[in-house]
Amino acid sequence: MPSVISTDVLIVGAGVAGLWLNARLRRQGFSTVLVESASLGGGQSVKSQGIIHGGAKYALHGALTGASEAIADMPRRWREALAGDGELDLTGVRLLSEAHYLWSPGTIAGNLTSFFASKAVRGRVDQVKGEQLPPALQDKRFKGKVYRLAELVIDVPGLIQRLADLAGDGLLAGQNIEPLLEGGKLAGLKVDEREIRAQRIVLSAGAGTAALLEALGLSQPAMQSRPLHMIIAKGPGLKPLYAHCLGGGTKPRITVTTHPAADGQWVWYLGGDIAEAEGVAREPAEQIATAQKELGQLLPWIDLSTAQWATLRVDRAEPLQSGLTRPDNAFLAEEGRLLVGWPTKLALAPDFADRVIASLQRDGIQPSHPAPLPDLPKPPMGVSAWEQLLP
Ligand SMILES: Cc1cc2nc3c(=O)[nH]c(=O)nc-3n(C[C@H](O)[C@H](O)[C@H](O)COP(=O)(O)OP(=O)(O)OC[C@H]3O[C@@H](n4cnc5c(N)ncnc54)[C@H](O)[C@@H]3O)c2cc1C
Repeated sequence: MPSVISTDVLIVGAGVAGLWLNARLRRQGFSTVLVESASLGGGQSVKSQGIIHGGAKYALHGALTGASEAIADMPRRWREALAGDGELDLTGVRLLSEAHYLWSPGTIAGNLTSFFASKAVRGRVDQVKGEQLPPALQDKRFKGKVYRLAELVIDVPGLIQRLADLAGDGLLAGQNIEPLLEGGKLAGLKVDEREIRAQRIVLSAGAGTAALLEALGLSQPAMQSRPLHMIIAKGPGLKPLYAHCLGGGTKPRITVTTHPAADGQWVWYLGGDIAEAEGVAREPAEQIATAQKELGQLLPWIDLSTAQWATLRVDRAEPLQSGLTRPDNAFLAEEGRLLVGWPTKLALAPDFADRVIASLQRDGIQPSHPAPLPDLPKPPMGVSAWEQLLP
């Protein structure tokens, strides 16, 4: 018979949201258990592009809401954590790029007018030229304007590994989750028959949260999935590039990030408009051909002749939104002991943790120093899409 466990905070879902929250809580002296049904970070987190947005991309839409200010602070908070003097010690996590760039090919200036007028980017965007250009754009044939945004790009697999190290003995591989009720109220969860009691239960299971809520007999908060069809290229001719390439509209036409593969080659990971609606409708071969054509036009000097290609279909899980506006805040809903949410962006994991911690403080939840945890079965690490698809 598996043991009964008591903990302060029981978290379900070990993507960046659950792992970050877990590490913050442990640092504050809380006991935690973090349950993962598949692999650490293997949901959306290791499939993300790793950009620590400061809100600049969203400023392309024109007016920014007050809420966007939360995201504006994220690059600073991550930078401090990476330097070892922030809310978490993330020293050793690889910073792939100190900056993300905004690149407007040719003469598209219209959408940049509102962009530069917005508060989120004022004073934080510099035009770069010549040797300051990202290596992939340093060619005499390159035409267009490039701006440096104060947004970092991090190596997400390394981040997940570091957060897993900070999780100590609290990680638990578990599949079957049922409510543990006391007097008709939620007192914890049964995880693979193991009873775990907690002062608070947090669901941060990304796309899995809807099914978990159903298992707990709840229908709120409602979730939405936004499908994406990302493109991956790996090859010796690729050079580092971290940039949103602007098209005529308010969304980046292509967002390129560059990641190190285990065999030492660079991988280009392509998202943005190309991976959204029309891209989702394309078959993989068609999606690859579209990307090849776009890159051939935008960057004809980059040798893609020996590159290997793949595509990845992945959904972004978010709280249900009215209209088409995108969330630029973490989201958290509360129902008694249960807290449920989505960070909505990797970059906003600190904001998600803030919201949970604020709720604990408001309710006077204190570390209770329960008995040490037994040896728990551990979930494996998530593997990046390029190692799986282009090993
Ligand atoms: C292609 C793509 C690119 C992106 N790029 C960026 C970017 O550049 N910058 C940025 O800020 N954001 C980006 N995002 C968004 C970002 O990846 C997500 O907002 C973030 O990773 C969500 O983290 P999470 O922890 O909530 O979810 P996830 O990473 O999906 O983690 C949820 C975890 O819960 C587990 N789980 C599910 N069900 C259960 C269950 N029943 N029991 C136990 N565990 C369960 C899953 O296995 C998973 O490990 C991108 C997203 C995608 C899809």
